[in-house]
Amino acid sequence: MDLGLKHQVAIVTAASRGLGHAVALQFAREGASVVVFARDAQRLQAVQAEIEALGAPALAVAGDVTVQADVDRLVQATLDRFGRIDILITNAGGPPAGEFMALSLEQWEAACQLTLLSAVRLVRAVVPTMQRQGSGSIVSINSMTVKHPIPPLMLSNSIRDAVNGLMKTLSIELAPDGIRVNSVLPGWTLTERVESIMATRAQANGQSAQDVEAAITRDIPLRRMGRPDEFANAVVFIASPAASYMTGQALLVDGGLYRGKL
Ligand code: NAD
Repeated sequence: MDLGLKHQVAIVTAASRGLGHAVALQFAREGASVVVFARDAQRLQAVQAEIEALGAPALAVAGDVTVQADVDRLVQATLDRFGRIDILITNAGGPPAGEFMALSLEQWEAACQLTLLSAVRLVRAVVPTMQRQGSGSIVSINSMTVKHPIPPLMLSNSIRDAVNGLMKTLSIELAPDGIRVNSVLPGWTLTERVESIMATRAQANGQSAQDVEAAITRDIPLRRMGRPDEFANAVVFIASPAASYMTGQALLVDGGLYRGKL
């Protein structure tokens, strides 16, 4: 199937590693021009080189999704280089784990900035361009925690629901402008973040990282964690013109972990 991504321009945030990195490389393999954004300029340069090695045009913009001026600079740099924005993938690092009484108000505020307001900021920055074009596709990388809470991820379990509501509502508001809005919800996917979560759990419980992974994967019908490239396939598909009649969807990529019938 041709996903129709050749010569399309895709912005991927939090793309220096993990899921964002995998998504950026998959867009490049499909022939899109890719703009990668994250705080670590050095790591981002290496990602730009990886994308260019796949034969795709790339632009690296260093910045923080919680800083308005950085997001404005990202959009301006994309327009200066490529002249349009077809796709925005909103992604950021995850908020810290913790049970309710262990979390400070400052941590709640920081998590709102990182997880919710980063998406608001990014969408606000690209929509005028997409409206002018009469087309666009926005995909939020959210989490399976919108389907079922995972203790002790109080911040993620709470704030990601607001992102879900934001994206669903945007899909209705922006459809008349030819802009589709979807979310993809990762389950356990083996990135540096998950490796460090498992290492912390292993240390706390006096277990090996393998024991921790086995305890997690026991509940997953496919009996393993996902790979970042498997997750990226779903994001790139739903973002692409091949998914032209899909909007307002929240697609789980979780190996079957969620047991709900819908
Ligand atoms: P990761 O920690 O491996 O990578 C996070 C990326 O975000 C890095 O590139 C980092 O530089 C970037 N980043 C962090 N804060 C940023 C900021 N303020 N501005 C710009 N860039 C920033 O994480 P991941 O596993 O790739 O996860 C990506 C997102 O998906 C996170 O929000 C995570 O909570 C969520 N998620 C991941 C999983 C999983 O199993 N991997 C499951 C559910 C949800």
